[in-house]
Amino acid sequence: MKKRDPWSRRLACVAAAFLLAACASSTPQAPPPAAVEPPRHETHELLEAVLWTQTAVEHDLLCRQAFALAAERLERALKDPKWTALPDQTGDYGKLPPAVVFDADETIIDNSEYEAELIAEDKTHDSALFEEWARKARAKAIPGALEFTRLLKEKGVETIVLTNRGEVLHAATLRNLLELGFPLRADGSTLLARPKDVPDKVSRRALVAKSYRVLLLLGDDLGDFTAPVDASVEERRKLAATHHDYWGWKWIVLPNPMYGSWERALTPSSAKDEGERLRLKYEKLKSFRKER
Ligand SMILES: [Mg+2]
Repeated sequence: MKKRDPWSRRLACVAAAFLLAACASSTPQAPPPAAVEPPRHETHELLEAVLWTQTAVEHDLLCRQAFALAAERLERALKDPKWTALPDQTGDYGKLPPAVVFDADETIIDNSEYEAELIAEDKTHDSALFEEWARKARAKAIPGALEFTRLLKEKGVETIVLTNRGEVLHAATLRNLLELGFPLRADGSTLLARPKDVPDKVSRRALVAKSYRVLLLLGDDLGDFTAPVDASVEERRKLAATHHDYWGWKWIVLPNPMYGSWERALTPSSAKDEGERLRLKYEKLKSFRKER
């Protein structure tokens, strides 16, 4: 096909524009269309967070980055007998065998399939549904977690998991972790589930400190490192700041945008229902046009 000369194409465009302008000047101007409110999308608060966790390579890279940092810190920790990741660990702990303490959910295993089911069923956290999921023992390993715990095994460092899953899920969680290849003791002694009526990990960390020198803590929630954190957003920031010399050094944080104590800080237990919780969350948004 013959190519059209670019100049004749430009002239044709100018002629067409002239013709349109002439038509416009000879016909009355139509009023501009009224502004239409875009429809609000029916969606779920967890949608973006779960998709990010399941599909964004950035999630995987952040996890691998965290474990790479932990591996680097491990070398230093092993060489320094005074090194402990527990601020309260005192006494002759330098002579104790070394261990690294992990949280389980969203630190070494991925529960996003349970979170995705909440979206599918249009629910918020549902203990019975979570138990059903956990008993399947099908959670996948967080990227980089297995490699890091294998490194620990090679170095003679114990892998200890403190999970806030209840005792009733201890056996299923142990099976899940062992089948994935995490180097836990088959008798379950290095997986510590949450005892009934004990919401935090303080006493279990103290228990570990009696038998091990704790080299590192790894978790996805402030409560994996500090005392209980059912506190306001500002109180959480202050609490984190009091341990500024631990973060990224002896305490390594994994990403979890789906849930955590950060969310409870936005929606106190006094909120009467889901609608109230959602309203409180909207109030916490910082928008550049919001009046303050
Ligand atoms: Mg966790």
